[in-house]
Amino acid sequence: MKAEVIAVGTELLLGQIANTNGQWISKEFASLGIPVYQHSVVGDNIKRVEDVFEAAHSRSDVIVITGGLGPTEDDLTREAAQKIIGQKLIEDQQAMEKIALYYEKNKQTMTANNRKQALVFEESIVLPNQEGMAPGQIVEHDGRAWIFLPGVPSEMKSLMNSGVLPYLQRSYKLQSDIVSEMMYFIGIGESTLENKLSALISHQTNPTLAPLASEGEVGLRITATGETGDEAREKIAVMKETILQIVGSYYYGSDDVSIEATVRDLLKKTGYRLGAAESLTGGKFIEKLISLPGASTVTQGSLVAYTPLMKEKVIEVPASLIKQHGTISNECAETMAVNAKRILEADVAISFTGVAGPESSEGHEPGAVFIGLQIADERPSVYYFQFEGSRDKIRSRAVKKGYELIFH
Ligand code: ATP
Ligand code: MG
Repeated sequence: MKAEVIAVGTELLLGQIANTNGQWISKEFASLGIPVYQHSVVGDNIKRVEDVFEAAHSRSDVIVITGGLGPTEDDLTREAAQKIIGQKLIEDQQAMEKIALYYEKNKQTMTANNRKQALVFEESIVLPNQEGMAPGQIVEHDGRAWIFLPGVPSEMKSLMNSGVLPYLQRSYKLQSDIVSEMMYFIGIGESTLENKLSALISHQTNPTLAPLASEGEVGLRITATGETGDEAREKIAVMKETILQIVGSYYYGSDDVSIEATVRDLLKKTGYRLGAAESLTGGKFIEKLISLPGASTVTQGSLVAYTPLMKEKVIEVPASLIKQHGTISNECAETMAVNAKRILEADVAISFTGVAGPESSEGHEPGAVFIGLQIADERPSVYYFQFEGSRDKIRSRAVKKGYELIFH
């Protein structure tokens, strides 16, 4: 069986809203073991919607469409589907009564457009909409199930749960289960990770592997199917073991973890408390930690100082050091970390100084960042980076790198 999901609506193409319906439906289908092969988003244009439906008809067994069932001119999902389904559209009595009642109650006149919302295909299974006007419908045509749902997410979900999923369970022998795990790696680029795992990525069919790059880290999704969830999970466990043998040193956790939470747990385990001295990052580093539950047991605080004078006053960086080396320097970063550790009575201290741009500063290009780190009584270290991108991006990359350095 092959399923696909089509979202209709120009607002989706304009980026005004995200296609959360597509994501939600895919997740539900995955948990039922229904493989989704295709997602499409199409604007409110009859010709283009017809084309997408045509393609869906040629390749899928279960086609779920959301949106375009409303009363306005641009709601044309039914009309577009008629070309393939070929059935007459009739008014659903129950839906019609509901719409009429609504207009009566609100003392508004009902227009012909409003009646349109009650239209269903002649031989469809009508799914009454408890939350809105337009009912959902399932049309069995040419060995395929066409499932039409309203675009409003709450209406769509309620119809999926009450009508669509039970229908699919009944009609198809759903035997397999899809399970996936997202592994997260830090300190390794997407292409390096892909290279190291290329044999696995290109030859594996069950489980499959898909790397996903995000800001300063890489995710790797492992997806397996099995007759039962346990069987699929076992396949994932075996694959994970193999992956860890190759790139385990970059792995920090799976699924709902973040590098910040991983560092928090690491600090908790070692009993270390963290302090920071932040110039470039302006408190962003400590903010990430403090936003997590349990932060109070591992966080001392952060000294935020932006100007050279405030670095002297707040972080006690000697004026002579600043005069000799500048604030964007190895020496300044090291002193900031060492002083933060002492002033904040921390066990681990990290410091950030650099140029976020857009202008250069002290002869350094935007993106030049020094991160100082001192752990317990070890000698402090300073790391230098040249990050790319906007001011915002440089600052978030620095924060992420800070967590990575503590993690490693
Ligand atoms: P209505 O009867 O409300 O007009 P409809 O079936 O015509 O419903 P749309 O007009 O396409 O649906 O969408 C209604 C609203 O639902 C949109 O304004 C949007 O907020 C939300 N919506 C539509 N499609 C999606 C989607 N794919 N993901 C998330 N939200 C969506
Ligand atoms: Mg609409």
